[in-house]
Amino acid sequence: MAAVLVARGGGAAARALTFGCLRQLHTVYQTVELPETHQMLCQTCRDFAEKELVPIAAQLDKEHRFPAEQVKKMGALGLLAMDVPEEYKGAGLDYLAYSIAVEEISRGCASTGVVMSVNNSLYLGPILKFGSEEQKHQWIAPFASGDKIGCFALSEPGNGSDAGAASTVARLDGNEWVLNGTKAWITNAWDASAVVVFATTDKSQKHKGISAFLVPMPTPGLSLGKKEDKLGIRASSTANLIFEDCRIPKANLLGQQGMGFKIAMQTLDSGRIGIASQALGIAQGALDCAVDYAEKRLAFGSPISKLQAIQFKLADMALALEGARLLTWRAAMLKDNGKPYTKEAAMAKLAASEAATTISHQAIQILGGMGYVTEMPAERHYRDARITEIYEGTSEIQRLVIAGQLLKEYRG
Ligand SMILES: Cc1cc2nc3c(=O)[nH]c(=O)nc-3n(C[C@H](O)[C@H](O)[C@H](O)COP(=O)(O)OP(=O)(O)OC[C@H]3O[C@@H](n4cnc5c(N)ncnc54)[C@H](O)[C@@H]3O)c2cc1C
Repeated sequence: MAAVLVARGGGAAARALTFGCLRQLHTVYQTVELPETHQMLCQTCRDFAEKELVPIAAQLDKEHRFPAEQVKKMGALGLLAMDVPEEYKGAGLDYLAYSIAVEEISRGCASTGVVMSVNNSLYLGPILKFGSEEQKHQWIAPFASGDKIGCFALSEPGNGSDAGAASTVARLDGNEWVLNGTKAWITNAWDASAVVVFATTDKSQKHKGISAFLVPMPTPGLSLGKKEDKLGIRASSTANLIFEDCRIPKANLLGQQGMGFKIAMQTLDSGRIGIASQALGIAQGALDCAVDYAEKRLAFGSPISKLQAIQFKLADMALALEGARLLTWRAAMLKDNGKPYTKEAAMAKLAASEAATTISHQAIQILGGMGYVTEMPAERHYRDARITEIYEGTSEIQRLVIAGQLLKEYRG
């Protein structure tokens, strides 16, 4: 992107500056030698983001507009079902590839990044892992091509972190499940054609009485709440799903009855790699913007990048980002190698989301007044970063997961 703007407040010294905030500044791919496929994928996603997302990201954000056309193109590139085997119309790649792709897309537009992450990790992920052969064929292929996207409904108005306390219920009535209750904060809700939803089938069993279901959208008995008016990721829709005697076929149970909580937790382990990657993309976008600005902005006769105060900020930003990226790639590689990765995914998400918040905060500081207005993407990065510390488990919950796993390892 080359946004031409006039620096403000400099009186006679004000001058035109050109910023290429998505210039390829980062060298992380030299840090770990990636396979050729992954390097090519990275370049493809970067090119796509620069051409298709960067020019419109601010407008999408302003208008709260879903990037429908871009999502379709991403489907054609295989970005919506990245680790799904080709027999189900997926790209047949691994989670490292997925992480790299989500980062690159989010660097261009974090809203599009979360649409992609939810479809890949939260919607397709559990179907791929727990679905029957028939379900995989029915519920995956149309969602791999970009024709349709899915969503994932675990949270409720009364319980987010405490997901085991679900009050949405499902009862079997002949050959149908009947769902009642409200799911809250559902990403992609207004644009989705199906949802993986969690409901209690046996209250006495507490979290072991939760089951997962596949529900087409729209469907009678399922209505949408208002679109939430959010701080960031405003081009992705977020809304309540309200189930009122919503009937679905018995065959739409995903996995076994009572397996829902396990399905949700395992899905979130993978999802956290996606959100960590989204956070990396936001952070990288903010860092690129800050470096570029610092090189071009003059103060007291020279570029502010010459000031040690600015250099120290840039150094800390790069350090946090690259550390978080290594953690994220480690979690992805563990998953790809069939190793446990619950703790590592939580560490990746925690490190990357906190890095994104700090880096985007500092980017605004480096841009000064220009960081505070919508002419530059820094303020959007700052708003977009914040959610990564909240959804798919808050930072507090990530710390609980990490500590829980750590203590388990110590205790043997
Ligand atoms: C934009 C957006 C999109 C979302 N998308 C989805 C989606 O697609 N699907 C979905 O199911 N959900 C989604 N969510 C919900 C999200 O996952 C929850 O908001 C999140 O898990 C936190 O739950 P809560 O909001 O109920 O907060 P609460 O659980 O009420 O937590 C409030 C505060 O208390 C802290 N807290 C709670 N319990 C503990 C504890 N045991 N120890 C320490 N601290 C604790 C939390 O960390 C937090 O700081 C989305 C949310 C947002 C805002």
